Amino acid sequence: MAAEFRKLPSVDSILSDERIKDLSDKYSRLVVVSVVRTQLDYARKLLKEGGHLLEVEELVTSVLDSVNQHWFPSPIQVINATGVILHTNLGRAPLSIEALDSIRQSSMGYSDLEFDTGTGRRGSRHSYAARILSHLTGSESAIVVNNNASAIMLGLVAIASGSEVIVSRGESLEIGGGFRIPDVLKQSGATLIEVGTTNRTYVNDYEDAVSDRTGAILSVHSSNFKVTGFTHSPSLLELVNLGRKHNIPVLHDLGSGSLIDTSLFGLAHEPMPQESIAAGASLSFFSGDKLLGGPQAGIIVGGEEYVSKVANHPIARAVRIDKLSLSALTATLLAYLRDDVISVVPVWAMISEKVDAIGDRARNWNRILGNKYEVVEGYSTVGGGSLPDQQLPTWLLSIDPSPDGSDSLSAALRNAYKPVISRIENDRILLDPRTVLHDQDDDLLDVIKSVLLRTQS
Ligand SMILES: *Cc1c(COP(=O)(O)O)cnc(C)c1O
Repeated sequence: MAAEFRKLPSVDSILSDERIKDLSDKYSRLVVVSVVRTQLDYARKLLKEGGHLLEVEELVTSVLDSVNQHWFPSPIQVINATGVILHTNLGRAPLSIEALDSIRQSSMGYSDLEFDTGTGRRGSRHSYAARILSHLTGSESAIVVNNNASAIMLGLVAIASGSEVIVSRGESLEIGGGFRIPDVLKQSGATLIEVGTTNRTYVNDYEDAVSDRTGAILSVHSSNFKVTGFTHSPSLLELVNLGRKHNIPVLHDLGSGSLIDTSLFGLAHEPMPQESIAAGASLSFFSGDKLLGGPQAGIIVGGEEYVSKVANHPIARAVRIDKLSLSALTATLLAYLRDDVISVVPVWAMISEKVDAIGDRARNWNRILGNKYEVVEGYSTVGGGSLPDQQLPTWLLSIDPSPDGSDSLSAALRNAYKPVISRIENDRILLDPRTVLHDQDDDLLDVIKSVLLRTQS
């Protein structure tokens, strides 16, 4: 046994193989050495368990495979054929070409991120985005941070830490990923004062809770669920009027927020930041990568007095936006200023795509695939915690998954060289053209052909 162990190749003997040397040109020596060690550990374990002795050749091959198959930039691109436009697990909003170009041009070299080229002095990374956001929403001021969760946390810490924050019981909710309003308030050092009931809260309920300890009123858009029937909640304007009467700031979490009126597209009306500002919210919070259609970001718009409190708080530095996201965000916002969002920003191109055009695309896919499947009516959803229960009519390519069944076929599509994420309904595989980017059609069809040839021939 001990003799067998001594026959195991040494780390150096594997590293001196020409093919492994080539690998060391592509990857750092540390990476290669660590993989070699892992493979040798495995060889040793195999021997211990009574397996055969791995030869140098076998070890070299497994080192090559391991390095080449497992080290690639991540996350990788997938094809979203689910029909869920803002799919949080699939990275939410796909970026516009302009946003991608903007990241490239600002990040390939140095940039004026925090440098004022006019004066030669230090500048602010926030000022340009803030100017566009003020134009778009009518706010006095704005600041952009890492994401909306950190924006809300920062807003509460800066405005209401050590005081009471009044929230309706109907809005004391969990956003997802364990982000719960009561917990966030606690972490921010504020005390949650819940008022009203789950389904009905009136402005009087808020007023009854006002005291000299009140630091803010927080209004949270119930973005990912719907309470219907016997319900009431005060308008933002009523809350703002109450806040003014008692000199209490009103903070408004819109969740997604939409700078475009979603009702123009047959959807329910999603709260708009410009409406929130017009109603007089002190600060309004919304995401960059939901209906805005940009990168992950948390946007805070509002009164100068409150925004500067937020900007000057030490936590603002901890959650500041990075230059890549900022580049993509400003490029996305410019599309709104130019008024060509619908054609330029993928999320809006998807929402506004005509159902007939989607039908043509689904039928075209089917024709290329030999008319073996069906094209059926169905619906797409917006997703991403916006517009729950809202549906956009669509056409779907519907595939009978026999003989393997829908779970097996959807797994095969997911595990293809270009992963295709589908939807299963009534034991059919459904593919929605609405969320498949137009330049992904060829890849999608290649994957379907190769996967179904294997299982259905
Ligand atoms: C999505 C959402 C958030 C969190 O936004 P992120 O950008 O994901 O951090 C906060 N509040 C509401 C109401 C949301 O819908």
